[in-house]
Amino acid sequence: MSVRLSNNCTNCSNLSGGLCTLHEISVSERHTCDSFSMLPNLKNMLDCTSCSRYESANCAHPDKASAGMLCASWAPQAIA
Ligand code: SF4
Ligand code: SF4
Repeated sequence: MSVRLSNNCTNCSNLSGGLCTLHEISVSERHTCDSFSMLPNLKNMLDCTSCSRYESANCAHPDKASAGMLCASWAPQAIA
């Protein structure tokens, strides 16, 4: 199953300084479109190893959680 955390303009590679370089309009986290293209670095970081629930009692699929896996319960880790 393909699961997406949040496909919006803030994690789209077409965003630059609050402007969509494809459509040449001002956008925000409230927007997205069919041309959405996830930032390459986000594509690489979204798996169980970057999930705050990994190896915890809150993991939705503790028997399957591993590198390269992802589920709808993925949650970002706190950044100090
Ligand atoms: S291409 Fe679409 S999703 Fe990406 S920044 Fe522009 S409007 Fe947003
Ligand atoms: S299975 Fe889901 S909740 Fe568990 S670590 Fe992976 S992404 Fe997070």
